[in-house]
Amino acid sequence: MPRTRIVATLGPASSNYTVLRKMVRAGLDVVRLNFSHGTHKQHLENVNLIRRINKKYKRCIRIMQDLEGFRIRIGHFAGEKTRILKDRATVWLTNDPHAAGEKTIPFDYAGDLTRIKPGQMIYIDDGRLALRAESVHAGSIRATVIEGGVLKERKGINMPGASLAFKSMTDKDKEDIQFGIQHQVDYVSLSFVRNADDVLEAAAIVKPRLPDCRIVAKVESRQAIRNIDEIIDAADGIMIARGDMGVAIPIYEVPIVQKQIIRKCNAAGKFVITATQMLEHMTESSRPTRAEVTDVANAIIDGTDFVMLSAESAVGKYPHESVRMMNDIIKFTEQSLPDLDRFMKGAPCRPLRRPRKK
Ligand code: PEP
Repeated sequence: MPRTRIVATLGPASSNYTVLRKMVRAGLDVVRLNFSHGTHKQHLENVNLIRRINKKYKRCIRIMQDLEGFRIRIGHFAGEKTRILKDRATVWLTNDPHAAGEKTIPFDYAGDLTRIKPGQMIYIDDGRLALRAESVHAGSIRATVIEGGVLKERKGINMPGASLAFKSMTDKDKEDIQFGIQHQVDYVSLSFVRNADDVLEAAAIVKPRLPDCRIVAKVESRQAIRNIDEIIDAADGIMIARGDMGVAIPIYEVPIVQKQIIRKCNAAGKFVITATQMLEHMTESSRPTRAEVTDVANAIIDGTDFVMLSAESAVGKYPHESVRMMNDIIKFTEQSLPDLDRFMKGAPCRPLRRPRKK
């Protein structure tokens, strides 16, 4: 049995019996329900789907509920669903959800905007678009588009370094946790964890009613990286959430932070999930890039316990093929590890065997 397990996010591309069954047969271990999207009714349909497949095929695919956390998002546009942001254009970000106008972009941060200072970078959609705050007014920010592109409704916003005020757990997360408890999910993942208290607060709600449920802290901010030891201590496991992390810190720091977190989790006996863009190319193409395959293999060699698919399985064109590719990388890498160890100690390189079936 492979040691490294596969988490795959469900979404429009995979929330049906036929595709999910193929993903299970391709080596899936855990489905991730992303509570940043979808209704409780849709999530319940997915829970029922996976339980049906588990029963029919005598499998034990686990369910991970991933909570939204303190996520600031682009609001809804009046009329069209997307906007084109041109480089160097001036736009107004406003926390009035009903604001209309070509250059006005609604967003849902209800706190004090004066905490955002001129010069602050504002990243949208995991950094695909970038704005720079020029001046801050009551209820709006004037910003210049630094990296333009297509702006879609409900995309996430990151403002690294801005000291935005958030209370502990959002009301939405509290409601969603009740759903998770009621439907007995196996893992609850907490987004934008800042410290051990955030983890303990969620654990105090979940554990008395669902003692076997594992609490996963998603590490995706500078603050969480700073507090990593206490977070590992408080959580059952860690997710290295490289999507948000890659905008919260300079992207070139991500590989070293990833390795440090994997080592710390291994040493503490806590499980660790390496997540986001692992096979991103397979969202559109039937083959991953060499760099992606190497990324997955390196995470396994470093000691990750899970590798995770996001867009690949949620909205991609090749959901079960992505799971199969993950599985092939896992099998081949794991069975080659003893040879790799011997080689690192100076022994000659032996020919490698083809992967065994799972
Ligand atoms: C991430 O940011 O890498 C992540 C896994 O979180 P989400 O998909 O919820 O943005």
